Amino acid sequence: MPLHIEAIPALETNYIWAVHDDEHCLIVDPGSSAEVLDFLHQRKLALCALLLTHHHHDHIGGADDLLSSGPVPVWGPADPRMPQVNHPVREGDRVPVPELDLDFGVLETPGHTSSHIVFHDERSLLAGDTLFSVGCGRLFEGTPQQMQDSLDKIARLDPDLQVYCAHEYTADNCRFALAVEPDNNELRQRAREVERLRAEDRITLPTRLGEELATNPFLRTREPEVIASARRRDPDCGEQPADVFTVLRRWKDGF
Ligand SMILES: [Zn+2]
Repeated sequence: MPLHIEAIPALETNYIWAVHDDEHCLIVDPGSSAEVLDFLHQRKLALCALLLTHHHHDHIGGADDLLSSGPVPVWGPADPRMPQVNHPVREGDRVPVPELDLDFGVLETPGHTSSHIVFHDERSLLAGDTLFSVGCGRLFEGTPQQMQDSLDKIARLDPDLQVYCAHEYTADNCRFALAVEPDNNELRQRAREVERLRAEDRITLPTRLGEELATNPFLRTREPEVIASARRRDPDCGEQPADVFTVLRRWKDGF
């Protein structure tokens, strides 16, 4: 059975990702249940697992309701703020989903929250709010160094991975990235593509990790043009990637 990965739009800007084979379905970060229940019902799918990346309500708010009709494995970090998780995992653990013949690895990616994790296999990265297309999550609970380290871990994965992010923020992210790197041709091309997609109200995801490495300023804190831009923004900016990250993140927060 071929696998399908579909976005279920929910709340203001969230995408709840559904991975299914026309029979079984795993759901990533259900911030809301109604849209997911409609999706499962319309496609006659049986829920077989939940994968949760972090504790924010717009990622787990629908989990209890989805579990009320029958328990399924719920994979996520060990965090008391996520009582739904019945299979807590850490970096290096495996997440098998036998119904779909899938087996994910786990990376701990603190920064957006202290216990954020991402899931990946040989095709896909389920990135939650750590990595967005052409952007990254805000730092609510972590330090710039932690987020830089988390993004470095992701950057070492296969560049051909398809990245499934949890929000439609790409157009805003492109505007910021162009302020950082106005002469980045691949970024300019991505920004034009995103503008066209959004004008037609279409999704800009998934994205390819290799494209993010070429366009996403938060994955490019070692690039001379990005460093120069951060130093123009803040002449006190240090030379380390986390220093550059700090300036970029603060700049983006007020952009
Ligand atoms: Zn979040």
